[in-house]
Amino acid sequence: EMASAFKKLARDEEKKASVLQSDEWYSLLLKVAKRFVAGDTKEEAIQQAMELLKKGYDISLEYIGENIRDEKMSIDAKDECIACIQAIGRKARGATLSLDLSHIGLLVNRQLTLKHMRELLNEAKRYDHMIMISMEEATKTDVILDVYKELVVEYQNIGITVQAQLHRSEADIKELIHYPGKIRIVKGAYQEDEGISLPRSKELDDRYIQLVKVITNVYHPISIATHDEKLIKRLFNQGILHQKGVECEMLYGIQPNLLKELKSQGVATKVYIVYGTEWYLYLCHRIAEYPPNIYRAVTSMLDS
Ligand code: FAD
Repeated sequence: EMASAFKKLARDEEKKASVLQSDEWYSLLLKVAKRFVAGDTKEEAIQQAMELLKKGYDISLEYIGENIRDEKMSIDAKDECIACIQAIGRKARGATLSLDLSHIGLLVNRQLTLKHMRELLNEAKRYDHMIMISMEEATKTDVILDVYKELVVEYQNIGITVQAQLHRSEADIKELIHYPGKIRIVKGAYQEDEGISLPRSKELDDRYIQLVKVITNVYHPISIATHDEKLIKRLFNQGILHQKGVECEMLYGIQPNLLKELKSQGVATKVYIVYGTEWYLYLCHRIAEYPPNIYRAVTSMLDS
């Protein structure tokens, strides 16, 4: 119930305003956010990234934001992503930049999105960086996949995220494996209607495994992006995590010991680092997935 409440809270602009105006709520949420968000700026994110790279992890970076309707703001977001690509590129090659298409123009128009993506992909190519497209609400799945399919035939450094929770995803993946780009598979962060989606359940876990196999059976590049230890153990025991082209990717601050253990077992591991000031929505998703996060923060506040 709490999970669902936080997913709803994430989407309610009025509640968001009242929560952020309340000093108590704001300071509590900011405190929780600090566990999952590297900082307000790319410099802070890149500092974390460099430490993780030194330890042998690969990294993804995301400048948090989505659902931008204003053209100027979408250009600013794209420019920040370009600056991030260059800043990490000066220090390390081969990073991944993740983004929501609705952050860089999808809600303005498709042409602008494609223009921004081409700029980003060209810049990323200079440093052997890759751009991974995140998957958003189900109402956007078709247009996101369309943009991806247009770009993946032009660029090698692009990948796409697919949500196992959606009933359509099996068909989507069967099509996507015919394109070269990496497929990142996640359970799905958005609350969708039952008619199109599965809630967290054993059935969803079984489907996740089955979708991973559709991808790994043909040796297509894949990022297995989950913190679910049981799922990971099942995949590990089947030898899938050691297969070439397979990586395990987790969000910064979540299950770091599990990822470390995988790394020590020779699995390719990647940490997904987010930064920026728009952390509210991101945080609501992380609490919804694991409500104890909020209790942990309250108790650590009482302790301090
Ligand atoms: P869950 O069933 O949610 O959790 C399983 C177990 O993992 C929990 O019982 C708990 O032990 C642990 N756990 C999970 N979350 C937390 C947490 N916040 N804190 C502490 N422990 C936790 N979603 C999208 O919809 N679109 C995307 O583009 C997208 N990109 C992602 C990229 C990466 C690299 C990752 C890791 C996730 C991404 N997600 C995305 C989010 C994803 O869909 C899930 O919402 C999120 O990963 C939680 O699901 P789970 O697979 O970890 O399993």
